[in-house]
Amino acid sequence: MKGADVIVIGGGLVGAAIAWGTARQGLGTLLLDEGDTALRASRGNFGLVWVQGKGLGCPEYAQWSLRSADRWADFAGDLMGETGIDVGHERPGGVLLNMSEDEEQANTTLLEQIRREAGNKPYEYEMMDHAQLRDLLPGIGADVVSGSYSPYDGHANPLYLLRALHTGFKAQGGRYLPGHRVESISSDGAGVTVSAAGTTFSAPKVVIAAGLATQALAAQVGLSVPMTPLHGQIIVTERTGSRLPMPTNLVRQTREGVMMLGYTVDDFGYDTATRPDRARNVALGALKAFPYLRDLRVVRSWAALRIMTADGFPIYDASDSHPGVYVATCHSGVTLAAVHALDVARWVAGEEAPADLERFSTRRFDVQEVA
Ligand SMILES: Cc1cc2nc3c(=O)[nH]c(=O)nc-3n(C[C@H](O)[C@H](O)[C@H](O)COP(=O)(O)OP(=O)(O)OC[C@H]3O[C@@H](n4cnc5c(N)ncnc54)[C@H](O)[C@@H]3O)c2cc1C
Repeated sequence: MKGADVIVIGGGLVGAAIAWGTARQGLGTLLLDEGDTALRASRGNFGLVWVQGKGLGCPEYAQWSLRSADRWADFAGDLMGETGIDVGHERPGGVLLNMSEDEEQANTTLLEQIRREAGNKPYEYEMMDHAQLRDLLPGIGADVVSGSYSPYDGHANPLYLLRALHTGFKAQGGRYLPGHRVESISSDGAGVTVSAAGTTFSAPKVVIAAGLATQALAAQVGLSVPMTPLHGQIIVTERTGSRLPMPTNLVRQTREGVMMLGYTVDDFGYDTATRPDRARNVALGALKAFPYLRDLRVVRSWAALRIMTADGFPIYDASDSHPGVYVATCHSGVTLAAVHALDVARWVAGEEAPADLERFSTRRFDVQEVA
């Protein structure tokens, strides 16, 4: 039996951010990860730190995303200071492109409704017509009708982020064990035990942050965490000179110069195969938005599975039947990395929960305790 103050199950962006946060608070933290055979969204995403358009019907989520985006620069600075890894965070603002009048109408309705729901809290954006956008994003295609600019948005390199979180975690004394797929979680009043790779580990606190495996693990501790895998496909081009000053929902240029073209959203179950028809759609959409992309060679394409909760909002909760067990999952683990590392980690450590965290409890699905 091996002990720690906190065991985090899952070494993706959500688990690693929380583990980094608890280790920084001086808690002996053990991070158990299944490894390369698992589904791993953190290695296949688009890298946006994005606020606009999120939180319709849940103003707490809009503010939670904004809170994270606001804290991202300091968070990236802390990671850089501790690890020497620059996670490539930039916040020049971002643009949601409208490729038709219908899209413009739908996005205007969406953003206006989110702004209304925000009440007296901030929610800034500006709808720009084609001519205004052309000044902001030189080279946009004639088919771009308009776009909403939000100063809140930005992007980062998600792979450097994952590496920095792991490096910082270990530098803080955290223990990382890859190849440890957790099979069972139980508690006996004295603490929580988890079994992985033939070994039993114990701690007063355990955080389940295992991406798409969260649902099954959480069910063991009486928490219902409804989620679906959603397939997303991305294309990456060769490097080119600096052309795109800020990320958009369809294309972003990384600091290294490659163009990332995204992304599709499909329910193909747990299938992670890349699909030529989806790649074609991604490429056509990106070319319409930025015709100059036609001169660039494609160097990579991949697909990965999003972790989509039943209502699209994050889930943070603690088990009633298994005291000391927490669950954390969301579909925007890059955007929310800063609040996971700073706020959620403090909540797990026993400090007061951040305002509105209750809104993200599994109670909203009304079927919380299943055991
Ligand atoms: C195409 C695409 C584009 C995206 N774009 C963005 C974006 O622009 N911005 C943004 O914020 N988010 C984006 N996301 C979402 C983001 O990638 C995820 O929210 C984030 O990676 C989730 O991290 P996670 O740690 O919850 O899950 P994962 O990355 O899936 O990690 C789960 C980890 O748990 C481990 N594990 C699984 N089962 C067990 C077990 N039983 N025991 C131990 N370990 C286990 C796995 O090995 C894995 O490392 C995108 C996702 C996709 C697929």
